[in-house]
Amino acid sequence: MNEFESLSATQSHPYPDSRGRYGTYGGKYIPETLMTALDELEAAYRAAQKDAAFHETLARYQADYIGRPTPLYLAQRLTDHLGGAKVYFKREDLAHTGAHKINNALGQALLAQRMGKSRVIAETGAGQHGVATATAAALLGMDCDIYMGVEDMERQKLNVFRMRLLGARVIPVASGTQTLKDAINEGLRDWVTNVRHTHYLMGTVQGPHPFPLICRDFQRIIGQETRRQILEKEGRLPDVLLACVGGGSNSIGLFFDFLSENRIRMIGVEAGGLGIDSGKHAARFFGGKLGTLHGSMSYVLQDENGQIRGTHSVSAGLDYPSVGPEHAYLHETGRIEYTYATDQQALDAFQLTSKLEGIIPALESAHAVAHACELVPKLPKDNIVVINMSGRGDKDVQQAARFILREEEQP
Ligand SMILES: *Cc1c(COP(=O)(O)O)cnc(C)c1O
Repeated sequence: MNEFESLSATQSHPYPDSRGRYGTYGGKYIPETLMTALDELEAAYRAAQKDAAFHETLARYQADYIGRPTPLYLAQRLTDHLGGAKVYFKREDLAHTGAHKINNALGQALLAQRMGKSRVIAETGAGQHGVATATAAALLGMDCDIYMGVEDMERQKLNVFRMRLLGARVIPVASGTQTLKDAINEGLRDWVTNVRHTHYLMGTVQGPHPFPLICRDFQRIIGQETRRQILEKEGRLPDVLLACVGGGSNSIGLFFDFLSENRIRMIGVEAGGLGIDSGKHAARFFGGKLGTLHGSMSYVLQDENGQIRGTHSVSAGLDYPSVGPEHAYLHETGRIEYTYATDQQALDAFQLTSKLEGIIPALESAHAVAHACELVPKLPKDNIVVINMSGRGDKDVQQAARFILREEEQP
């Protein structure tokens, strides 16, 4: 049995149920017009799961194109500095395009191709998911349109250029707040109209069923490799897994295949922004309430009237008002612990990792490192901690410079 077949066969974690629910979370809160498209997608995905040829194709691209397996790296200088448990990085920053998002983008693009679709569309905020989608589309010779808020296009000019270079069309969205939320609405409208030849490529474990399931499965490779690699290096499984949580895909990708190992602590780190009390953050488990956003029931940051609250984070990838439904469920069961790191803590970890390891982490990943800086010194030296280095920080140096230089100028 290959790994892909084992996805369903050995699953000890029974969610989502047949209605796409994770306990009370998840589901399909969508206009009726989208129902057929989602049903068709689910059927195609279930069929692909059982298709050895699909799995072989995916595995070939994972190895030769993405560069998998990504290394599991012992961060010795950070370990010495923190003076507690041994710290490993799972190096998703070394995946092609510099982050884990390509795992999902390529998987879904291959699925779309298998469904006979010639076009993929996606929405993007900071541009990272747009770039991953455009990359997969270029690889497979598919048409690609990326919806992006006008405001975001202005802020992320370089990524807009990158997507166009990769052959994608970037469609400006001028409605509403001209950001991610509006781009998603436009993308879904396009999908309803063009579903016959178009696949909507969801970037994280969000949205209506089956997207959270599909994206999770394509990211599970992170945890599957980590298990093999840590057994090879240490002869045992880790004690703690740490990952940042935006929509939740890199974290669930690392955690999923360890969920049944009850001895292993798993900690998801959200964006604490300027602090929880400031209200300027994206920590959904610290102030969010049950609600639906973009087709799914989960924790959502909203005001008393159910209006979506403005969020803030120094890292664009964590700056989203809702979190994947499976995380909401695993939060409720207590299997995964959630915490947050502030902008300042993340920026400190960003500099520390760069100086000590010669690895400039994505600001998103720096949130996970920031929590490690608090936790690891308290753990015994024979403990093992694995941090998911979800992406590299080249994309963030300008943003980081803005904050760090301002800080240095202060007396
Ligand atoms: C997009 C992104 C994230 C956040 O998304 P998840 O779905 O929570 O993984 C984290 N790290 C990097 C590098 C990203 O690009």
